[in-house]
Amino acid sequence: MTESLLLSEQELILQRTVRDFAERELAPRARELDESEEFPWENFNGLAKLGLFGLTIDPAYGGTGGGFKEVAIVVEEIARACAATSVIYAAHLSLAMQTIYRFGNEEQKQRFLPPLVRGEKVAAFALTEPGAGSDVAALATTATKGKGRYMLNGSKLFITNGDVADTFVVFATHDRSLRTRGIDCFVVEKGTPGFSNHRQSGKMGMRASSTAELVFQDCAVPEENRLGAEGTGFYDAMQILETSRIGIAAQCVGIGQACLEAAARYVQRRQAFGHPIAEFQAIQWMLADMATEMDAARLLTRRAAILKDQDMPHGAESAMAKLFASEAANRAASKAVQVHGGYGYFKDSPVERYYRDAKVTEIYEGTSEVQRLIIARSVLQALGV
Ligand SMILES: Cc1cc2nc3c(=O)[nH]c(=O)nc-3n(C[C@H](O)[C@H](O)[C@H](O)COP(=O)(O)OP(=O)(O)OC[C@H]3O[C@@H](n4cnc5c(N)ncnc54)[C@H](O)[C@@H]3O)c2cc1C
Repeated sequence: MTESLLLSEQELILQRTVRDFAERELAPRARELDESEEFPWENFNGLAKLGLFGLTIDPAYGGTGGGFKEVAIVVEEIARACAATSVIYAAHLSLAMQTIYRFGNEEQKQRFLPPLVRGEKVAAFALTEPGAGSDVAALATTATKGKGRYMLNGSKLFITNGDVADTFVVFATHDRSLRTRGIDCFVVEKGTPGFSNHRQSGKMGMRASSTAELVFQDCAVPEENRLGAEGTGFYDAMQILETSRIGIAAQCVGIGQACLEAAARYVQRRQAFGHPIAEFQAIQWMLADMATEMDAARLLTRRAAILKDQDMPHGAESAMAKLFASEAANRAASKAVQVHGGYGYFKDSPVERYYRDAKVTEIYEGTSEVQRLIIARSVLQALGV
């Protein structure tokens, strides 16, 4: 009921449309895809058909506009049905496409965005390396400038959509000694000589999403594929991540909501000591905590989204949303398994998958420790310490 106070008529329609699609198309396939680790092309194409890759993108590039509040609504509904599909969506739209949209010039936006909006091409965002995760400035992939092109050498790890993508947003340094000020950002297209990608299989959760290692060996990228000014890549990546975390927070709300609903259904069916276990106070408290934390996480997420949509600073708020929502989703998943007893420990129960899917939300797009650093920095700054 409160949703009608918090969301506009249009946002409620969007929520209902995506929820119907997710329940009908995504949820029934989620378990099988988790087992097979296959990239869910049907899901990806379905999201494209609904026009969801056009959110936040100007109609000049084929998009439908809108803001990150809408993205949060969409991601929550996708994640509630299939968390793996929500990370594919987030990496495509909130990471890779946003980097091109925000930092690309007119020619680059016209060239790269329309096929990504239509879902004819898949995008990936490649920042992390074997020796540079939280410490982004330590990245070692080099971009050596030559005549009209940069030569890329190095590798990237854990890249979502990395083995299916056509359009890669890649960060590399032209001078490692400059650390944050030496990093540039490029669009590398699939098929560029010297570029190869290899799927990393065997993930704990989000198994239908593809995760890949990218290798660059004397990979020549035309100068016109550099996004933004030389040396600004690190700062551009940080801006993208601070907004994209809103989507990850929404993903956590979706996973947590699915946990809550599965738990609430099960405890009414399961009998112990002659009663449905829903009648036991210890069980009710778990449901109460899950519901309260999910509501709080959703509100933090929407606050960060509203700030972003108003062009206001939102770095600390998106870090708070991502930190709280990811830890709350993990608590919810643990409780959901707990109320299912032994049944929750087997793959027949969806909560087993939710438990595995939830874990990575405390790791990617900045670990919980990194979120706490960002929040603490902002607290100290605000207090003038
Ligand atoms: C499934 C999956 C998908 C991913 N998708 C992408 C993607 O699409 N693109 C991309 O670029 N990356 C992606 N990543 C990478 C992800 O963002 C990194 O794994 C993450 O940033 C952490 O980096 P790391 O793994 O190197 O861990 P490390 O940075 O080595 O961290 C190890 C531990 O040390 C802690 N730590 C590090 N520094 C500090 C500090 N200063 N203070 C306190 N604690 C600290 C961390 O919090 C963590 O607990 C993905 C990862 C996974 C698992």
